[in-house]
Amino acid sequence: MLKFCLAGNPNSGKTTLFNALTGSTAHVGNWPGVTVDKREGVYKKLEEKINIVDLPGIYSLSPYTLEEVVSRNFIMDENPDLIINIVDATKLERNLYLTTQLLETNVPMVIALNMIDTVEKAGDKIDVRAMEKAFGVPVIAISALRGKNINELMKVAYQVSKTPRKSFSVVEYSPLIGKACKEVEKLCWEHDVDCACFHAVKVLEGDLLEVKDHPHIEEHVQEIRATIDSSAFDGDFEAMVADARYQYITSKMPSIVIKNAKRKVNVTQKADKVLTHKVWGIPIFLVIMFAIFHVTFAEDFLYLGSLFGVQINSDLWCTFWQVEAGSAIPSPGVWLQSWCGWLTGNVIDIVAGWMASCPDWLTGLVCDGLLAGIDAILSFLPHILMLFLFLSILEDTGYMARVAFIMDRAFRKLGLSGKAFYPLLMCFGCGVPGVMATKTLESEKERKISLYISPFFSCGAKLPIWLVFAGVLFGGQHGDLVVYSIYLIGIVVALICAIILKLVINKAETAPFIMELPDYHLPQFKNTMLHLWDKLKHYLVKAGTIIASAIVIIWFLSNFGFAFWNGMVDDINVSMLGQIGQVLQYLFYPMGWAMGDFGWQLAVSSLTGLLAKEEVVATMEVLAGGMGLEFMIASMTTPAAFAFMLFNLLCMPCMAMVGAVAGELKSTKELFKAIGFWMLVAYVVSGLTYWCFTYWWVGVIFAVALVAAIVVLYIRYKKNKA
Ligand code: GDP
Ligand code: MG
Repeated sequence: MLKFCLAGNPNSGKTTLFNALTGSTAHVGNWPGVTVDKREGVYKKLEEKINIVDLPGIYSLSPYTLEEVVSRNFIMDENPDLIINIVDATKLERNLYLTTQLLETNVPMVIALNMIDTVEKAGDKIDVRAMEKAFGVPVIAISALRGKNINELMKVAYQVSKTPRKSFSVVEYSPLIGKACKEVEKLCWEHDVDCACFHAVKVLEGDLLEVKDHPHIEEHVQEIRATIDSSAFDGDFEAMVADARYQYITSKMPSIVIKNAKRKVNVTQKADKVLTHKVWGIPIFLVIMFAIFHVTFAEDFLYLGSLFGVQINSDLWCTFWQVEAGSAIPSPGVWLQSWCGWLTGNVIDIVAGWMASCPDWLTGLVCDGLLAGIDAILSFLPHILMLFLFLSILEDTGYMARVAFIMDRAFRKLGLSGKAFYPLLMCFGCGVPGVMATKTLESEKERKISLYISPFFSCGAKLPIWLVFAGVLFGGQHGDLVVYSIYLIGIVVALICAIILKLVINKAETAPFIMELPDYHLPQFKNTMLHLWDKLKHYLVKAGTIIASAIVIIWFLSNFGFAFWNGMVDDINVSMLGQIGQVLQYLFYPMGWAMGDFGWQLAVSSLTGLLAKEEVVATMEVLAGGMGLEFMIASMTTPAAFAFMLFNLLCMPCMAMVGAVAGELKSTKELFKAIGFWMLVAYVVSGLTYWCFTYWWVGVIFAVALVAAIVVLYIRYKKNKA
């Protein structure tokens, strides 16, 4: 089968094109040995089937980042039949820089000039023929998002892949180092180097890997370098080569791009004036987030009940809205969730009916254990679905990229960069991809700080915990606020920790922010759904596997004593889990929430959460037994309930994420440090919450101490500066 690869800058539309080409045949794997996603799929609309590989997004082919190494090795070693170089037409100069490097390989190549729709809308024109002349390969203007010209692209690509291509370096046109470049290439030919053009430029640059690979050539190259006046670049040949590339690109630009003379301010610029405003940017973000939480979790939608006294009274409407008489109209999220709860409740009743004649232990295992636990997880599916849908929409419209940008501005004052915020935002979905995305941070220090604070961004699996509490606290009236506050507290704790960590880990500076902001556009249904499905799939698979099996084990441990051959025990306190839990409970005493009636059950639930965070609610459900989860939560005071939630938000994350962090930290010692850090933060925040809000005078003392500490630090800071 023919093998084509997609290469291009991040955000140039690679994945969009890849999805359009391969549709349902796509599957995600890993590149051997590293944790960068490898997407592969098959294009079937030509006489031959074509295997398409989506390479990671890169700005250059030098081997500095993992993405670059993966892409470079693929192109050099795995003999692809063709490179589809995808180029963002709205950011041509920057994108063509990579193109000039790809041209130096001898793999056949076509340029897919993407986002042509945006260019045309702005009234600009791009001369495709001029571009072909400048770069020597076919150029096809496409819009991956709208599926325009994609089959034409593949037809041309297919033909081009049949003929070999002669490599071509724009560096040879440089008045300064063009001649040297040609000489090195000749040397490479003489030494029988494969793909001479590519390696010649790299050796000339002084690329360490290449110099090591070609020691004989390097000797001569040193002589050649000596003949060039490199004073303008401080003898940095890499910078000279980069400059030569840009020189070539900019010299061709006037003939390629024809700008619209009477260009209007486009929508993106207008929207950005408001959405990324210096002062209003962050408040707007907070309001958007609150609106999302309100639509998803509010019992009283748009405050129609409390503001306008709207009540539901008739039986018919009560059934329709799934509420009790006298309630307010719920938000769409709550409404959907009630119906799903009604549905699963009925299914469980039916199954219980069937099993009436089965032995007790079996009914117990299936109904009270398995079904109750799975119900506890699945009943949150509507909420999770909605929240993720909104997050996917924010992502697809391009707003999330702005959030990183806004945060960058605010963080910079604290000495952190907002680039780190981007992987952290991903942690709202699931921490594992978020942790992997920290690879894109260049600064070691920043990467480490991000890893440390990544669990504080509440992931989808923790959501069920907030929701069961939101349904009981404050009479279940302010669910949206409860959930919103947990998310916000997580972010605030993360920020505070980041500042502290920055002072502790003293290394390197914050890297500059180079992520480019994509234009805003309406989300496309298919893309949003794909993003959504990616997130949901993970949740469902987990619910069906680890969680279901852990529930069975917990059910067993909580229904049998250590002498399990004597049959089921009546009192959960004498069960195996009960006895272990009552000892463990003391560990959690200082945080308050483990002191109540269900202390050990809550302690055990937090522990099982280390397996997977969905497990917390599932375990609570099993351990609450006949009395039900709501009763268990209602037995806690509000400060204790918040303390419990915050402990679970901040403590050591689930196994999958710990594994991911371990992979990034690359040392057991470092990993234990991180685990200790999470536990400490969780303990302190949870404990403070409980004590400060349970005894007002503790709160006052703490507040005074905090203010005093800030004043002292500020005075010191001023003194140091003076
Ligand atoms: P990747 O990082 O290269 O994989 O880029 P993506 O495929 O994720 O695309 C980045 C952004 O550009 C997404 O928001 C896409 O919806 C958008 N995009 C991709 N192709 C087009 C296009 O042809 N026209 C427009 N207007 N937007 C596009
Ligand atoms: Mg992509």
